[in-house]
Amino acid sequence: MTETVAAPPVRTARTARPAAAKRPEGQWALGEYEPLNSNEEFKAAEDPLLVRERIERIYSREGFASIDPDDLRGRMRWWGLYTQRKPGIDGGKTGSLAPEELEDEYFMMRVRSDGGALDAAQLRAVADVSVRFARNTADITDRQNVQLHWVRIEDVPAIWRRLEEVGLSTTEACGDCPRVIVGSPVAGVGADEVLDATPAVREIAARYVGDPSLSNLPRKYKSAVSWLPDVPYEINDLAFLGAVHPEHGPGFGMWVGGGLSTVPVLAQHVGVWVPLSDVPDVWAAVARLFRDYGYRRLRSRARLKFLVADWGVEKFRRVLEEEYLERPLLDGPPPALPPAPIDHIGVHPQRDGLSYVGAAPVAGRLSGTKLAALADLAETHGSGRVRLTPYQKLLVLDVADPEPLVTDLAGIGLQARPSPWRRNTMACTGIEYCKLAIVETKERAATLVAELEKRLAGEPALPDLNINLNGCPNSCARTQVADIGLKGQLVADEDGRQVEGFQVHLGGGLSLAADQEGAFGRKLRGLKTTAADLPDYVERVTRAYLAGRTSPS
Ligand code: SF4
Repeated sequence: MTETVAAPPVRTARTARPAAAKRPEGQWALGEYEPLNSNEEFKAAEDPLLVRERIERIYSREGFASIDPDDLRGRMRWWGLYTQRKPGIDGGKTGSLAPEELEDEYFMMRVRSDGGALDAAQLRAVADVSVRFARNTADITDRQNVQLHWVRIEDVPAIWRRLEEVGLSTTEACGDCPRVIVGSPVAGVGADEVLDATPAVREIAARYVGDPSLSNLPRKYKSAVSWLPDVPYEINDLAFLGAVHPEHGPGFGMWVGGGLSTVPVLAQHVGVWVPLSDVPDVWAAVARLFRDYGYRRLRSRARLKFLVADWGVEKFRRVLEEEYLERPLLDGPPPALPPAPIDHIGVHPQRDGLSYVGAAPVAGRLSGTKLAALADLAETHGSGRVRLTPYQKLLVLDVADPEPLVTDLAGIGLQARPSPWRRNTMACTGIEYCKLAIVETKERAATLVAELEKRLAGEPALPDLNINLNGCPNSCARTQVADIGLKGQLVADEDGRQVEGFQVHLGGGLSLAADQEGAFGRKLRGLKTTAADLPDYVERVTRAYLAGRTSPS
């Protein structure tokens, strides 16, 4: 007997399941003001910038235990302060411990340097703070900041005074607000520069950093303003890059919606040309648009890139022009871009006949003592001006006679003619201090560089392979856009034990490809290395590359 099977009900337009009502994304411009997560709650309760007064009046006097949790893990970021990881907690516990179990009673403090520009007095002030209050730590970040560690809450007001004496600050160095503005390290001196973007960088910082109308954005707002394409503009929320308009001359093209983290997206050219004098206004208009239309419900979708992806650049431009600028922007083509990133390492002519010298610490690691020595060298050999680069390197400007400086920099461990390994390796903060980390990165980068320098010393014509070490999937040191991008995770060793290691992304690179797919390295399924085997792995990749093979192993 044949079994009768009931036919499935036919869905017609009448019976079709009603589309789920779209959940509000927390877009203020649509009236969605209800705070939809704990970060939005503490921001709505009070302007995070106001925590400074409590730090000065209460916390620095009464100590760590007196700090309100919303201030400790929330608002204090707006002043460049994060608690650092308690020493000795392994990466396997990162995701399972409560914040109070992971965090130490010391802080990481980020000092902003918009455009990476520091003078000798500023270097000495940071050096002084580092030696007196931060156990002589100082790392150059990949956004031209200086990061200090081991800071006690009791010392924070004194640190602010010392920094502010020389025009530096920690204002909005972290948090859901305008972060440091990345700029060309050779702005104002570069031989190939047509228009110096420094006035726009300075004006934006002066007008908008610490502005309470922009201190509650959906998430961080990363921007770059540079004539030369020597900054990783494609991974910023907003970037202006030098472009010549056929009628109006030098100005800036504009890109929006870039960012890496766990969902990497390259910024898109908006198709406009902006004169230098308009850059601050347009920068602020984009910030306001992000504040009002950005998604606030989920932290994982709150960056500008998600709004741009949903709207497309045409709608983005239309809303920007109609609702925020109240005028149209001029059309403009993107500039020609270089085939590879420009890092400025070595000796290079400035346009005024002097030279600048670019030197490489290993993965951005310096110290207060080195910063003080650097200030002395910058004054002895140049005008005292130094620039930090978004590749964790530094430049000394205005040098009449470069070779003695090259020698003196080498004397403090800063090489102007580094090996390709030292030149091209970056590392994020990692497990030494970062509460999100799974693996150690900075020491590992130093070991890797030393090993590769030794193992491949006899090889002529070594390739320039960027190696970016990251302690977790957050990609602060740009996992996806390196030749060898390393994402920290626990991996199984030969005996099946879980040990520190990396997922490998191969073949990424900024400015090397016109499209998103080409720029991001391929995450090769199953291609992982233990941290202990990392030098062997990179050596194998390099030797395969030198032999003209395509397979990495
Ligand atoms: Fe911390 Fe991860 Fe960022 Fe590294 S990539 S600094 S481990 S959050």
